[in-house]
Amino acid sequence: MHYDAVVVGAGPAGCMAAGELTARGFKVLLLEKERLPREKPCMGLLSPLGRRLVEDDFGPLPPECLERPAEALGVRVLGEGGGEYSLPFPGEGLWVKRAVLDAFLARSCGAEVGEGCRVVDVAAGRFHVRLRFVRGEEEEEAEATYLIGADGADSLVSGMVRPEFHRLHALPALERATLFLWEGEADWDPRWLGMVVWKRGVGRFFARCGMVGLALSHGEGRGWQEELEGLTGFLSRRVGLRLRGDPVRMAAVSNRMAREGRYNLGAGSALLAGEAAGFLDPWGFGIRLALESGKLAAECIAESAGENVTPHLHYLRRAQPMLGAGSGGKRRRSHGKVGELDLSGWAGEKGRAARRDFRALRRNLNR
Ligand SMILES: Cc1cc2nc3c(=O)[nH]c(=O)nc-3n(C[C@H](O)[C@H](O)[C@H](O)COP(=O)(O)OP(=O)(O)OC[C@H]3O[C@@H](n4cnc5c(N)ncnc54)[C@H](O)[C@@H]3O)c2cc1C
Repeated sequence: MHYDAVVVGAGPAGCMAAGELTARGFKVLLLEKERLPREKPCMGLLSPLGRRLVEDDFGPLPPECLERPAEALGVRVLGEGGGEYSLPFPGEGLWVKRAVLDAFLARSCGAEVGEGCRVVDVAAGRFHVRLRFVRGEEEEEAEATYLIGADGADSLVSGMVRPEFHRLHALPALERATLFLWEGEADWDPRWLGMVVWKRGVGRFFARCGMVGLALSHGEGRGWQEELEGLTGFLSRRVGLRLRGDPVRMAAVSNRMAREGRYNLGAGSALLAGEAAGFLDPWGFGIRLALESGKLAAECIAESAGENVTPHLHYLRRAQPMLGAGSGGKRRRSHGKVGELDLSGWAGEKGRAARRDFRALRRNLNR
């Protein structure tokens, strides 16, 4: 079967790209290896800009996509030295249920959706792409003029479209992460995401409606057990964390190539979007950047359709303002904006503990 475009991956980047292309009259196939709704280890914090991108293209989110409370105010940072800082969003964010949100986006994007279809091979030429995918026991093929790889941090499409870049920059930038979910409570305003900055890195947590979630990142050779013990101990002293029973543990990976200022936008008629392209901000938030890059990749394909120029060149040019969202000069500034979070209040803190926490945070952002 021939399509105008095939999109791989039904996360926020892929659904946004598929929706944008479909709205512009393209015949689109969206392939997702899992059945929807699929689990995605995620804290579920949607920034104000991310919210606006979703609402502009998909309308207001139905209540089943939202956590309770749904209102998200930003990030509160707890330093080991005793400091606490609020980094408020410049607008209204949301707490979302990722699995439900992504399924809603996939079902509302208007494209033909192939669930349970794992792409295993991609051959991309100029204005011609051929994909092989496995559905159940069967192997099938699809052909298209354009391709958008939105298959997440550990992207197969990235390796197929630009193998050298993938080997040299994308694979070494993969960072393991684990999300733990418990029954429990804490003395914590559920509208804020908590971020603990300590000597071993950064841990993120939420506490609401009798549930506690904690996300840890860990590099090569480092386990999570010791880190988890240290962090839960810290949080029990600091915010009265009380956990019951054993946690559900979900393993994930993040792609941190943006820290080195690297992005893989694809080549020719095959573009990459979302975390597959490296879009992840220094705080580890990627939903908004996934939506934004998915929309932009689709717009660039639509703009170049019918021309003798592949969309990659448009995408490279138009994505420039987004590059650096996860790296570079912005992180070195001691105040102002990092991603959508405002650091300016922080710069006013003068105490010794505050200065130590701030140095630790800066080191972590610059890792
Ligand atoms: C623990 C943790 C917590 C996080 N919390 C937040 C948060 O609170 N807020 C935030 O903004 N960001 C958060 N992030 C980051 C955010 O989840 C990602 O950046 C975002 O999901 C990237 O979206 P995406 O569409 O690029 O990829 P994904 O959401 O990863 O979607 C990729 C899709 O592609 C599919 N796929 C993969 N390979 C194939 C294949 N071969 N064939 C077909 N389909 C395939 C996958 O099944 C998946 O559905 C968190 C990340 C982690 C690890």
